[in-house]
Amino acid sequence: MPGLEDLYREVILDHYRNPRNRGELPSPPATKAEGFNPLCGDQVTLTFTMEGDTLSDVKFAGSGCSISQSSVSMMTAAIKGKTIDQARQLIHDFKVMMSIHEAQLDEAGDVTLEGQPGQKLGDLEALQGVVKFPVRIKCATLSWNTLQQGLDQTGHHGLEQPSS
Ligand code: ZN
Repeated sequence: MPGLEDLYREVILDHYRNPRNRGELPSPPATKAEGFNPLCGDQVTLTFTMEGDTLSDVKFAGSGCSISQSSVSMMTAAIKGKTIDQARQLIHDFKVMMSIHEAQLDEAGDVTLEGQPGQKLGDLEALQGVVKFPVRIKCATLSWNTLQQGLDQTGHHGLEQPSS
């Protein structure tokens, strides 16, 4: 489906050229997490603030390839204003999407996250084509792993963790 891939490329390039939420929040009070993908040289610095359980503001800085930088731009847009639990669900959904095998992708033409209740990944689905290029998957998941580190630092472990 070349049409779809063109569309996805446009979405990726749009986020690469016009990154959302670029910058750095003063830390503290913001939580700061840094990620590095040595395979490609991608760097991501993520800063975010919280109000209660909600990610009230998120910014990123960094450099690297179009996949890594568009992924982090899309991610900040997707998680801003969300709760920690929703952000963790998105991390999960995104990683599921990235682990879908190429054969499935070709067969289906499009990826549906069956068994994943709720959220649509929106623009993030543009990155699903990356699974065809295994070496680039780390570029796409870098920002998500960095977010996970950052969320772990806050001590908000979400519903899956024991509350005590
Ligand atoms: Zn990269």
